[in-house]
Amino acid sequence: MSDCLFCKIANREIPSKKVYEDERIYAFEDIAPKAPTHVLLIPKKHIARLSDVGAPDAPLLGELLLCAAGIAREKGLAHYRLALNNGEGAGQSVFHVHFHLLGGRAFAWPPG
Ligand code: AMP
Repeated sequence: MSDCLFCKIANREIPSKKVYEDERIYAFEDIAPKAPTHVLLIPKKHIARLSDVGAPDAPLLGELLLCAAGIAREKGLAHYRLALNNGEGAGQSVFHVHFHLLGGRAFAWPPG
């Protein structure tokens, strides 16, 4: 989508620090990290929020989860948190679905 920040990042119109890329996924470092490791994983396909996905997106969502686990493994994270904010009330500020992979510190539960 032309006015989407994360589409522009995936298309290299806006710079980012790439962590991983394949045909369907782009992962990059969060610009304002909330933990020593803070990677964002996005589908290259524009989907605004998780509540917009349908059954055809199931393989893509699975790939994103596998990718997150792989990045965590590569970074040697003993424990980590994978977070997804759906909607403004949950903290979503960029409306292109994304997982936050956070690691390198302890995390409280429940989150704020
Ligand atoms: P959310 O609030 O769940 O929508 O997460 C959006 C995330 O995108 C936040 O953690 C921001 O710090 C991050 N972010 C915003 N702009 C950029 C950017 N240009 N490069 C990397 N991360 C960004």
